[in-house]
Amino acid sequence: MRTSISQSLALAVLLGAAATLFAQEQTKAKPEDTEIWQPVPEKVNPGAKCGEPPSNAVILFDGKNEDHWVSAKDGQSPADWDVHDGLLTVNKKAGNIETKGKFRDYQLHIEWKIPADITGSGQARGNSGVFLASTGPGDAGYELQVLDAYDNKTYVNGMAGSLYKQAIPLFNPSRRPGEWQTYDVVWTAPTFQSDGSLKTPAYATVFFNGVLVEDHYQLQGETLYIGKPFYKAYTEAPIKLQAHGDKSEPISFRNIWVIKLP
Ligand code: MG
Repeated sequence: MRTSISQSLALAVLLGAAATLFAQEQTKAKPEDTEIWQPVPEKVNPGAKCGEPPSNAVILFDGKNEDHWVSAKDGQSPADWDVHDGLLTVNKKAGNIETKGKFRDYQLHIEWKIPADITGSGQARGNSGVFLASTGPGDAGYELQVLDAYDNKTYVNGMAGSLYKQAIPLFNPSRRPGEWQTYDVVWTAPTFQSDGSLKTPAYATVFFNGVLVEDHYQLQGETLYIGKPFYKAYTEAPIKLQAHGDKSEPISFRNIWVIKLP
């Protein structure tokens, strides 16, 4: 259908009127109209130094004991890793450990160190891992890889800073073995429909030694060793640390804390 000249004119007049109205509204608007005052965010003491837990953090390891951890084999036996000199060192015989507490969306701070005298190569050189959600004893969960990546060649979606076999880190800010390194993570848990199907995917943002290496990465499912990732429904889950079965010297952790997100 062709538009007549009178119809075009009417439309132009209408558009003109709308633009005038919008301009008048904008002139009448006050700065206060776009200010939000409530609810006020909770006040938090950020800690005296960088890396120190803020007042709203749940402390998972403060250098003294493993009270917040259990064996991941059954979720209740003692963790039985080695606590010494303020550190938590992997006990490969004891296997993976996980938090007693369960989490959904959170911010995590964790520090780790590859031994200065580390041996081995590739995936067998200081391999451990931070499982951002440990969804069950038989499940892969969601692993943020821990590995020596200072001078150690391996597949890049399995290097330190990777979300195992899914997300290659944007950079490699690894420090040399023997030096402490930090992960600061924002984890957005996946959500599921009542029938177990996926509603919204998981996202992870990771700062490695203060450098952004994973930028709100959308996961395709759990981080599998073999095969394509897929999701399995869960509501909240522990955070798990890996005792990897390679022969290299065990790595250590310290200063682990988490903030549950509203
Ligand atoms: Mg690992």
